[in-house]
Parts: sequence; C-alpha cells; structure tokens
Amino acid sequence: MAKKMRCYKCDGTLERTKDKVEVLEGSGLFEETEVFKCGKCGEVLLDSDQIKALRKKTDVLKIRRKLGISGNALVLRIPKDLQKFYGLEEEDFVEIIPINKHRFIVEVA
Ligand SMILES: [Zn+2]
Repeated sequence: MAKKMRCYKCDGTLERTKDKVEVLEGSGLFEETEVFKCGKCGEVLLDSDQIKALRKKTDVLKIRRKLGISGNALVLRIPKDLQKFYGLEEEDFVEIIPINKHRFIVEVA
C-alpha cells in the first residue's frame, strides 16, 4: 500500500481524486484529471505522471503554421489568439531555446 502523502500547506492527508484543473495557467480552459487533493484545506497537487497526462491535454492548444520568409530569414507568424493570450506586441522580445533536433521553445521574455 502506498504511503500517505501530506499536504505541504496544512499537513492534512492528500487523497487521489479527480478534479478540474486549468490546463494552462490563465487559459480558462479546464479539464478533469487525476490529482491529489488535501482533505483538510483543499490544496490540489499533481505528481509527475499527472502533469504528463495534463500536458497531453494542452495539445488542443497546438497550432500548425507555415513558415514565411522575410529577406533571408524565416518568419513564424504568431496567431492573434496567442498574441492576446500572452500579451505580445510588435517589438517585444521572445527567446528561442533549442531543445533538440525537432524542438525549440519560444519563451515570452
Ligand atoms: Zn492542506
């Protein structure tokens, strides 16, 4: 039997349950997923498997875009929805962080 997990806030007992969790902070998009919830204060915690499962659900926010070209550089256009969601405007800086040969992250600075 698994050890009882304790809430870091109030030391109450965490129980495995289902709850609605925002798939991306501030997105207003909620999904029901498995979490650990404190029976005392209601704090919700996710373990790494639960976080992975939730990440899969953020796939709904994925967008496929065709690269454009400007001079010698390739241009990735950011759709209006994302622009608004992240509060991006012209002249703002973002960071491009290479992860591997198939992936990089565009981080809002
Ligand atoms: Zn608690």
